[in-house]
Amino acid sequence: MKWTRVEVRTGSRTQLIDITGIVTGELAKTGVKNGTCFVYMPHTTAGLTINENADPDVARDILASLARLVPATGDYRHAEGNSDAHIKASLVGFSLMVPVIDGRLALGTWQGLYFCEFDGPRQRHVLVGITGG
Ligand code: ZN
Repeated sequence: MKWTRVEVRTGSRTQLIDITGIVTGELAKTGVKNGTCFVYMPHTTAGLTINENADPDVARDILASLARLVPATGDYRHAEGNSDAHIKASLVGFSLMVPVIDGRLALGTWQGLYFCEFDGPRQRHVLVGITGG
């Protein structure tokens, strides 16, 4: 399986960026009709998730709730001062798997793929791997 590096420029400290279109574009380049699409996050303070991309308030509510669960300051020892970002990234996770059926990502009607920035703004990247035939 070939992996493609996709650049993502984030614009604020915390942000959910819909990368569904980017990943769909990578799928189209492969010509794969049936298989599996993987997205991997090679950073420690950003993660990946799948959730609703129809109402932007859902992404806002996820970020607001994570901020309540994991405050920016607290009983942290990590000297870099971004422990909240590391913890949030581990909570959402670092990889996604989406089935590819008939040449399309088999997402639910309301689902989108989100790049979750927790310590931006930064230049980031994700790896997209698509296997199948
Ligand atoms: Zn750190």
